Order: sequence, then structure tokens, then C-alpha cells
Amino acid sequence: MSTEFDHYLNDVFRRENIRYYAAMPFEACHVIRPGLVRKLTFEPRTVILFLIPYYFTETENISRYASGGDYHYYVNNFFSLNTPFLQIHSHGYRYAGFCDHSPIDERHAAAAAGLGIIGDNGLLINQHYGSFTFIAEWLTSAPPELFGFTEPREIGVCEHCGACARACPGKVLPGTSRRKCLSAVTQKKGELTEDEKRLIRENGTAWGCDACQTVCPHNRKIIDEHLCTPVEWFHRSHIPCMTTDILDRMPDEEFLLRPYSFRGREVLARNLKLIGY
Ligand code: SF4
Ligand code: SF4
Repeated sequence: MSTEFDHYLNDVFRRENIRYYAAMPFEACHVIRPGLVRKLTFEPRTVILFLIPYYFTETENISRYASGGDYHYYVNNFFSLNTPFLQIHSHGYRYAGFCDHSPIDERHAAAAAGLGIIGDNGLLINQHYGSFTFIAEWLTSAPPELFGFTEPREIGVCEHCGACARACPGKVLPGTSRRKCLSAVTQKKGELTEDEKRLIRENGTAWGCDACQTVCPHNRKIIDEHLCTPVEWFHRSHIPCMTTDILDRMPDEEFLLRPYSFRGREVLARNLKLIGY
């Protein structure tokens, strides 16, 4: 179903080079943070989900999502620019944008809206961008009928090939036993245990972990053919290999635009020291 309002929504996403989006009734979503829903100044009736692909390049000692500009800046700018535009064109309905810290289970909602399947690595896998994508959404008081909305679908899952569990250095994924996500360990503040230090050293990572994404067959084509994101922001100042020297010389205003800045310089500096970069 297509509506007059689709025109404005399509405009927004076309300008931003965002190809995958879908609207769905809010009642079909799993609410995981009811407090955030209560804080809204309106009753949400629809969720408009969209995917922000970020794959840009191969990296050496840093997770791919963290090698360029911080997606939180991109998303905040996106909402500040586009939310007023939608409000002007939708007869007083209200909108609130979210990404990551959302009232709803974003991954479940995106899969139910047909934007991808859910992999055993815990990530949404889109047919075009694989798992190298962020999920964001608007909650709006507008009724689903205002959009060409999607009836929620049965959640699709991957074929359980087991590659991600076998590759997982922290043995967090099903069928494994260490149960310490390397990505979470690299973000931990303060003193690390000997086991955590060993985990970082053995895997040579300064920030994050892509092991469960790198081996996933759904990401093969993207990696092999370097299918880069069309979203300009992620092409910004890539650092595929982080070093202590680069970090020390990075001005604060630049550091603040990096995805790891929320943990402070010390955490990244500690990890770099552990892996000898
Ligand atoms: S990020 Fe790394 S350690 Fe964490 S679940 Fe994925 S593969 Fe395992
Ligand atoms: S590696 Fe295999 S099991 Fe893991 S998410 Fe990808 S398809 Fe699923």
C-alpha cells in the first residue's frame, strides 16, 4: 500500500542514501524499555525502522564499525534534520527518533518488518548489507495507515552453520563455554583480570571484535567485493589500524567524533599497550 505521505518519507531516505526501511504498527513491537515509552509526549502507534549500513573497509586491530566516524553523531544529525521535516508534513503527528537505546527490541522489530533475518551471532542480517548495519527508528503518533506499512512477518533466522560459534574468541555464542565477549572486554573500564588481558592479547584487538561477522557466509560477498556503505558519514577519516602514536596525536575534538570516545582515552590506550601497537 502506498500513501501520499510515502513521498516525504521516500525523500528523506533517498537524500540519506538509505535503501531499507519499513513502517509497522507499534503494537507489534517488543517493548524492552517501558520507561522510555512513558517519557514520550505522545502515544506511539507506528514505528518506522531503517537500516544504516556501515561497511567501509577491512581493518587490522579495530572493529569495522569503529574505524570511521561515530554513528551516534550521524544518527543524531539525521534525526535533528529530518524529524522537523516529517512533522511539518504530517498534520501535527509527533515523532521521536531512537538508535541503540530504544524503547523497543530493534532487532526483532527490523526482522518482523522484513528488513532482515536474525543470525545465531545475535545480529540482524540484511540481504544486501549483511550484518554490517545499524538499526534506527522513529516512533510516531501517526497511524500505520499513513504509511505503506508492513504487517509483521514471522521472524526469519539463519541456517545455523555454526561458523560464528566456532570463531568466537570469547566463546559466548551457543555451544561454547568461556562466555566472555571480547568486544565487551575491550570496552571495560578499570582493571582487567588476567583472563581478560589474555583474551585481548591473543586476538590483537584494540577495540571491538568482528570474528562472528567475518566468518558469516552472509557477509562473504560484502567483504570479498568491498561493498562500501553509500552513507557518506562512514567514509570519514578512516583509521583501519589504531596505534598509541595516532591516539596520542589525535586532538580532543577529533577523538570525540570517534565511536570509542565514550569510554575515554585510557581504555583504548590500555588495550593498545596490551597488544603492542
Ligand atoms: S563480538 Fe567476538 S567475542 Fe563477542 S560474540 Fe561476537 S565473536 Fe564472540
Ligand atoms: S555464521 Fe552461520 S550460524 Fe552464525 S549467523 Fe552466520 S549463518 Fe548463522
